Amino acid sequence: MSLAAELERALHYPLGDQLPPPGRATELRPGVKWLRMQLPFALDHINLWLLRDRFQGREGWTVVDCCIDRPESRALWQQLFEHELDGLPVLRVVVTHMHPDHIGLAHWLCERWSTPEHECRLWISAADYQTARYGCEVVNSFGGERLAQYFRSHGMTDPDHLEQIRHRKSYYRNLVPAVPPSYARLIDGQQLTIGGQAWRCIAGWGHAPEHMALHCEQLGILISGDMVLPRISTNVSVYEMEPEADALTLFLGSIDRFKPLPADTLVLPSHGKPFTGLHTRIQQLHDHHRDRLAEVMAAAHEKPVSAHDVLPVLFKRPLDLHQTTFALGESVAHLHRLWHGGQLRRERDGEGIWRFAPV
Ligand SMILES: [Zn+2]
Repeated sequence: MSLAAELERALHYPLGDQLPPPGRATELRPGVKWLRMQLPFALDHINLWLLRDRFQGREGWTVVDCCIDRPESRALWQQLFEHELDGLPVLRVVVTHMHPDHIGLAHWLCERWSTPEHECRLWISAADYQTARYGCEVVNSFGGERLAQYFRSHGMTDPDHLEQIRHRKSYYRNLVPAVPPSYARLIDGQQLTIGGQAWRCIAGWGHAPEHMALHCEQLGILISGDMVLPRISTNVSVYEMEPEADALTLFLGSIDRFKPLPADTLVLPSHGKPFTGLHTRIQQLHDHHRDRLAEVMAAAHEKPVSAHDVLPVLFKRPLDLHQTTFALGESVAHLHRLWHGGQLRRERDGEGIWRFAPV
């Protein structure tokens, strides 16, 4: 059995292998529905949630996360509107963070469900709202020359790869063509009342600027977004906008913020299946990163390493360019934790590449 499968066996999936059929939902608790949509990426699906709501005197639903904007996902939403809302409207759209699979269709959902009497509002953290606006309104927001220079400084020297990154001008806008022009702000610790129940916002860092998970004590449910996933480890990357970030330290500190939650909490992750075993999973993620950091340290003891040198240490499979960009960001995040933690120092070599060596 693979290590991943073995770790997964320590978690419990109360619904077994059952998945919501396309265009339909699975009810997890009265008024809490699980939806699933396909994504055209290596990570091939996302989970979304519908919460029965009563908001400003109106009966309806709160949507949590939206999927990317493409005709297939709009069509699935249409089916869900027809079959899963009991004839009621969507009253608000909560988005855990600004990544395209979560926010892509927020603009369409908010517009579709706003009426002269009621504005269907996007609810999201301020940092993620503004980053999403930036991503879809600024040409070259997450690509272009600056990103190519950044990857080069971390050891990506293949001219073809660099050229492709220079020309990647509208990656975000292709998946998120618009973001609602206004929003309601989610803040760490804030209580949202959804359908008469209190949901507490728990901020997390290291994966997105300011990710919001939602915990409902009464229902024993945590909507964990991408912060705690049952099968894969969350992408934790350092990118060119904040090049000295210590994203991995932020992430590991953030998942510890879920530790006070009850052991039997049902976790609703954005990818994978609802599970219990939150504390086991948090420990597994700590163990995973501790082992990776030890491997990176061992490599740095052999010779000073760039983030690119560390890729085969962290990722034991071949990577295409798209995967390499994510992987390189992760690789920098591991090196930076060791650098900020005082175990590695860094220096630019004659080629302008950051090399990390033991202190
Ligand atoms: Zn994400």
